[in-house]
Amino acid sequence: MIRRAAVEDIGDHAAPAAIPFLDLRAQFANIRDEVLVAVTRVLESQHFILGPEVEALERELSGYLGSQHAIACASGSDALLLALMALGVGAGDEVITVPFTFVASVACIVRVHAKPVFVDIAPGTYNIDPAQIEGAISRHTKAILPVHLFGLSADMDPIMDIGKRYGIPVIEDAAQAIGSRYRDRMAGTIGNLGCFSFFPSKNLGGAGDGGLLTTNDSELADKLRILRVHGSRKKYEYELLGINSRLDALQAAILRVKLQHLEEWTQARQRNAGRYYELFNEYGLEEQVRLPRVPSGYWHVYNQFVVRVDHREALRDHLKRAGIPTEVYYPQALHLQPAFSYLGHKGGDLPHTELACRQVVALPIFPELSGEQQRHIVEMIADFFEEK
Ligand SMILES: *Cc1c(COP(=O)(O)O)cnc(C)c1O
Repeated sequence: MIRRAAVEDIGDHAAPAAIPFLDLRAQFANIRDEVLVAVTRVLESQHFILGPEVEALERELSGYLGSQHAIACASGSDALLLALMALGVGAGDEVITVPFTFVASVACIVRVHAKPVFVDIAPGTYNIDPAQIEGAISRHTKAILPVHLFGLSADMDPIMDIGKRYGIPVIEDAAQAIGSRYRDRMAGTIGNLGCFSFFPSKNLGGAGDGGLLTTNDSELADKLRILRVHGSRKKYEYELLGINSRLDALQAAILRVKLQHLEEWTQARQRNAGRYYELFNEYGLEEQVRLPRVPSGYWHVYNQFVVRVDHREALRDHLKRAGIPTEVYYPQALHLQPAFSYLGHKGGDLPHTELACRQVVALPIFPELSGEQQRHIVEMIADFFEEK
């Protein structure tokens, strides 16, 4: 039905096959046998929660990321919540973060009854502007929570420097940035705590929800291992008040298979990004379509390929009619959402975030996307701007 409508809308032109925004079925087709072996192993063991499969994943991820400890949990959102719980952040405390992110980066702060204090983004990278952090610090500040948005690390050196000078811990939201490098270090392993997500659309995605915490602090690691199992080390003895946030063995087994392919998939995403740079240049669209800027010393893993345009909604409609899906991350800044209205923000408070919300659009970038499909996408964008 949708296909027919698209054909009618384009009129006489032949309609090329619709391009998916993300093609997880193509990915599965390539790893099907390995995944089925792993899943069968878990089913035969009938050990479903934590256990040896999860421990093996934790070991492999701590090796891959270069972090002393890796603690799996039930989701990226829970990883953020557990990080704040482990640091003892609570009522009356403040946590500095950005309003240009997925809601979970901020909701975790409210969940522990602390107050989110927003700092604007640097417009070139969409990540927290380190120059604005000090101005947001008060005697109540208990953590700084930068987000590595779209797969590009925030500028961690100045952030860590501020954290050290003020004695404030740094929690990295690396949910979109597994494998991303910042000056030869893995994003998510630079701060006191790193939080990762295995949501299916992330670069390392499970067959459901999953998350991970990393730290080089053994005391925090120990606390996190207790907090994720109701605050208990020994059965029915509760040292702390925790939650139930454990990773399933089935997820761990599937993630262990996928981790073997992560670098290859990341390289495919980077190759696709490179092709977009060439194509947008070839079509002379660099004025109309502002491409992501990767500062030197950074390694972008392109969980999303986000460009800025004027006339975004008209462009998206045009592309949709040509069978090209796009997404907007994020259409509305968090400081202006009803759930955070009690913070008392108004339009104009965080101008770089608000402008980004009006201009950004994400194009397909998944590893299996073909060069031909990318040319078609850029051609249709050129077609739109010719008519403008
Ligand atoms: C996906 C995501 C989360 C939450 O992860 P879930 O596993 O979906 O709970 C947190 N922060 C950011 C920036 C994300 O993209």
